[in-house]
Amino acid sequence: MNTSRRDLLKAGVGSLFIATISSPISAFSMMPMHSGRMLPPSKVPRVVIVGGGWAGVTAAKHLKKELGDKVDVVLIEKRKIFMSCPISNVWLGGLVEMDFLLHDFQTPASKYGYHFINATVTGINRHKRRVMTTEGYINYDYLILAPGIRYNYEAWFGKDRDLARLCATKFPSAFIPGSEHIALKRKIENFEEGTFVLVVPPPPHRCPPAPYERAAMIAHVFKKNGIKGKLIILDPKKEIKPKGKGFGDAYKQLYGDIVEYVPNAKVKAVDPVKRVIKTTAGDFKFDDANLNPPHQAGDLAWLAGLVNKKTGWCDVDPLTLQSKLDPRVFVAGDSASVKGFPKSGDMAHNHTQNMLVKALAAIIRGKDPYSAVSAPTNTCYSMVNGKPKEAIVINVLYSIDRKKKAPKKKKVNVVNKRSSQLAESTFEWAKALYRDMFG
Ligand SMILES: Cc1cc2nc3c(=O)[nH]c(=O)nc-3n(C[C@H](O)[C@H](O)[C@H](O)COP(=O)(O)OP(=O)(O)OC[C@H]3O[C@@H](n4cnc5c(N)ncnc54)[C@H](O)[C@@H]3O)c2cc1C
Repeated sequence: MNTSRRDLLKAGVGSLFIATISSPISAFSMMPMHSGRMLPPSKVPRVVIVGGGWAGVTAAKHLKKELGDKVDVVLIEKRKIFMSCPISNVWLGGLVEMDFLLHDFQTPASKYGYHFINATVTGINRHKRRVMTTEGYINYDYLILAPGIRYNYEAWFGKDRDLARLCATKFPSAFIPGSEHIALKRKIENFEEGTFVLVVPPPPHRCPPAPYERAAMIAHVFKKNGIKGKLIILDPKKEIKPKGKGFGDAYKQLYGDIVEYVPNAKVKAVDPVKRVIKTTAGDFKFDDANLNPPHQAGDLAWLAGLVNKKTGWCDVDPLTLQSKLDPRVFVAGDSASVKGFPKSGDMAHNHTQNMLVKALAAIIRGKDPYSAVSAPTNTCYSMVNGKPKEAIVINVLYSIDRKKKAPKKKKVNVVNKRSSQLAESTFEWAKALYRDMFG
């Protein structure tokens, strides 16, 4: 294999369709493989973390902070650079530079003393407790699986991978960070007139408010550019949720002549060639679109055999995030299914730091994991106006039911009245989390 193709695969660029559309297992067998051991054996328990997104980077730092030299932490990530999905809608709206979303993996790894390996994981042998990558293999005592999500295009196109590929190329979803975001931004900025459709994926999906925030930011760009066009939001739900009033008010008051919200629009069929979507609320023709298929646990979770096929997500202990199928594996971030937890970056950061890491550290110390965990919170800001910048917010506090060994919602606070102050808090929230993960 020549260098340029190998570099592409390492960067995760060439693997987009392999990893998201084809069957995960056949896909990984096409990857280049180094067969040697990557690191010498460790004298202390080794925790291998797969996926350097919001959950994985948080896990690496906080495990080292908890256990110091008593643990060897290895983070494996296929991308060369971290790009944040949170704030990416704000970037789509032209309110922040791309630089704000980008971070490097090396600074926190050297600061907190964990290994960072830039490689694509190609296989997981749970029996041998071994992770195979494009750079070699590594054995683990514990594995934290944090691969994010995959797009379930099969729900729309069945086995027709050509059509799925065409749809993903012409109308990229941009719910997984990378070049799809850049393609979507170009589309929005170059849109001249007509109908632009945004499909809201069915729940549970990554970041419940993200499609609605994205719609507001697209409408802001259309308004700014004086586009004579409609933005149609096709939502499978019966109403906007969460922050329904805040989004609804913004659509009516700021973008009344641009946004048309269509509830109960479950996708029945998508024709990316004729540009038609058939839904339970009628058929819609479009000139351009942001087509978002359903989400599932990331490919690696399937490859590891840890996904509940009925739900498409990983069943875990709701307090420790330990896989229900393998006590040596913990699932962090969006791939994990915990009742009441949204699939958000804030929640990925929170449940990883306060629950998973505390529980795993307790296990490594020989202590009870359940008494070590603490309740998470989840805060999610959504930018709804670009001029002036204005946002809305939801904040959920959880408590822990120690008897039931499960988290429960304690208090939900929603601010639907958009304000500039909340827009400022949006950036402060993001900076604080980036600082924690990368600072
Ligand atoms: C448009 C948008 C806006 C959002 N806004 C917000 C917001 O305002 N607030 C908020 O809290 N959340 C927001 N989110 C949600 C947030 O991005 C996710 O919930 C969060 O990224 C989940 O973290 P994760 O670690 O599970 O997955 P990710 O962050 O996606 O990380 C998964 C990582 O695994 C890596 N990986 C996958 N397979 C392999 C492999 N085979 N080998 C090696 N590495 C691999 C990937 O490259 C990736 O880096 C938003 C999401 C979107 C799409």
